[in-house]
Amino acid sequence: MNKNHLDGRLEQVRMQYNLYKKRPFDINITRGIPSRQQLELSKPLLNALDLSDWMSEDQQDIRNYGGLLGIKEARRLFSDILETSVEETLVGGNSSLQLMYAALMMEMFTGESPWSKEADVKFLCPSPGYDRHWSILERLGIQMIPVELTGEGPDMELIEKIVSQDSSIKGIFCVPTYSNPTGETYSDEVVERLAEMHTAAEDFLIMWDNAYVVHHLDDEHEKALNLLEACKKSGVPNRPYMFVSTSKITFPGAGVAAVGASEKNILRLAEELSKQIISFDKLNQKRHVLFLKDTNNIQQLMEEHAKILKPKFVWIQSILSAYFSGERKKFINWTNPKGGYFVHLTTRDGCATKIVDKMGEIGIQLTPANATYPYGVNPLDNSIRLAPSFIELDKLEVALEALCICIELVTLEKYGE
Ligand code: PLP
Repeated sequence: MNKNHLDGRLEQVRMQYNLYKKRPFDINITRGIPSRQQLELSKPLLNALDLSDWMSEDQQDIRNYGGLLGIKEARRLFSDILETSVEETLVGGNSSLQLMYAALMMEMFTGESPWSKEADVKFLCPSPGYDRHWSILERLGIQMIPVELTGEGPDMELIEKIVSQDSSIKGIFCVPTYSNPTGETYSDEVVERLAEMHTAAEDFLIMWDNAYVVHHLDDEHEKALNLLEACKKSGVPNRPYMFVSTSKITFPGAGVAAVGASEKNILRLAEELSKQIISFDKLNQKRHVLFLKDTNNIQQLMEEHAKILKPKFVWIQSILSAYFSGERKKFINWTNPKGGYFVHLTTRDGCATKIVDKMGEIGIQLTPANATYPYGVNPLDNSIRLAPSFIELDKLEVALEALCICIELVTLEKYGE
């Protein structure tokens, strides 16, 4: 842009922004949670129990204590989702994060050779990633090493190099399908390399959080390869813990979570959990089995979710691509995910925090810039997560138009010289 053109454009954008400032909005797009309309889809779950039959397939009274591994029919349903055997599957309570925390606590403090006895404990953190994974690691005093994502999983060359040399690197957190927030799915090659790589730490773990495994938005489905099978093939069956939950299938906070791992790890984890809880909520497990039935039925339910969610993702694509074309094309890159809950924006370096702040000043709350990096630190300051699921379409449109203005304003102010 020549100087006159640039000055003119800056003035126009500032004027538009000042108009927004005079009449601020009240819009929040920070939360990657289902909308009310989506929650309605699972209403029948609440009446799914058969009040004349309280026995599970494995003859447990689901109203009573017992059965820490989960009722048989729930273990079977989740083993179908996780592609594990029933014996390799534990069905827990309402949160997969809680199971992740329990697994890491066990390795850290109560396992055969607890990591906490070692001088340093480190984890690889494909970034941008899920901030609650980073919170767990931070809480447990595990040092985080960010690793770049490539569009089909983390940078494997770097990972292979460092894990083979440093025995204090004990694991990695992954969201292998429609990753939060970049929406990418790990390629088969990446999964195989994670399973096959030589690690200096013999007890290296892969925390495989498959939170979005059935959350497709398109007819074309993506899915990461079965990590447990790949690890078994390469002789490290105890390397992975694979997690799923129905938080974004039925009700967040009132769903059911499960973990898939080697039989040995499942039994170890059950023993650890038995010190925390007598049994999980088997009534909820049974309700979920009766409501969700099988993976085909889950797929149909997810198609109903997609009908509600997809227009929001399409809207984002069309507004951003209409605005950021021609001379504005270089201002921003964004993802176009085929599933999951997020769109990720990569701004020009040094702009993300200012853009999110500017949006905040006009009453539109976005997830804090760079929050998806370990310790919230991203030296490039270029990462913004959009979470469009909860907000109504008309508000999303207004928010996106304002976002385009804020991106242009901040980018021109920084790079327009
Ligand atoms: N894992 C990922 C990647 C998520 O995005 C979320 C929620 O947004 C969760 C886990 C939370 O799962 P849960 O409700 O089962 O604890």
